[in-house]
Amino acid sequence: MVILKNTDEIALMRESAQLVSKTLGMLAGEIAPGVTTLHLDTLAEAFIRDHGGVPGFLGMYGFPNSLCMSLNEQVVHGIPTGVPLQEGEIISIDCGVLMNDFYGDHAYTFPVGEIDAESQRLLDVTKASLYLGIDAMRKGNRVGDIGYVIQKHCEDEGYGVVRELVGHGLGRKLHEDPQVPNYGKRGSGKLLQDGMVLAIEPMINMGTHRVRQLKDGWSIITADKQRSAHFEHDVALVEGRPVMLSTFDYIYDALGLPKEDPLFA
Ligand code: MG
Ligand code: MG
Repeated sequence: MVILKNTDEIALMRESAQLVSKTLGMLAGEIAPGVTTLHLDTLAEAFIRDHGGVPGFLGMYGFPNSLCMSLNEQVVHGIPTGVPLQEGEIISIDCGVLMNDFYGDHAYTFPVGEIDAESQRLLDVTKASLYLGIDAMRKGNRVGDIGYVIQKHCEDEGYGVVRELVGHGLGRKLHEDPQVPNYGKRGSGKLLQDGMVLAIEPMINMGTHRVRQLKDGWSIITADKQRSAHFEHDVALVEGRPVMLSTFDYIYDALGLPKEDPLFA
């Protein structure tokens, strides 16, 4: 059942989404060769608690940490470790918080130092597909329209779209209806309605779309061990249009990058 949110609830959800956005912005300035993902996890947990939230993933389904940290061929759900990051790697960080009874859920794939051009293209294409998906979250469209544009953009670039993991409704629960696959047919699935809040999150592989799970019971990796990227925004449908509740602006500020996100307000 889809739980629609009213204006007051969407305002609270924006606060949760802003906190995950600020947390990733804080981490952006810390990611470097030699830093461990466990250290980043510790920083994030303290930051979230200092800002009035609770880490959303800690203990969720038994997850042991605050952040999912997925390195290189890891797609999602990687567990932070004491292994130092290395120049040229890519690290996908997925951050959840619970604040004012509502979840924020947000992800970005960061380069560690200088990365090769193929990895940069994977990041660029995946992030672009997220914005295409957000732009498809409009009155009259259906959930399948979001997945369709993400899948088409990424497959046209030769990439694999993960099937087993999907975006989702967001609210007082981390995972609400509807599921939001990153693949689909135009005009299929649930009709989009005002008050829906969705976590749209393409998970895109350089090679095959197929994935498998590591023996740790959490980490999902690509079946061919090629790299994977993951970007996620929280988006509300308001008066027929997508309104982004999360933002990458804090990350761009930390990295000195131009603010390039399209605005939908
Ligand atoms: Mg997430
Ligand atoms: Mg999510």
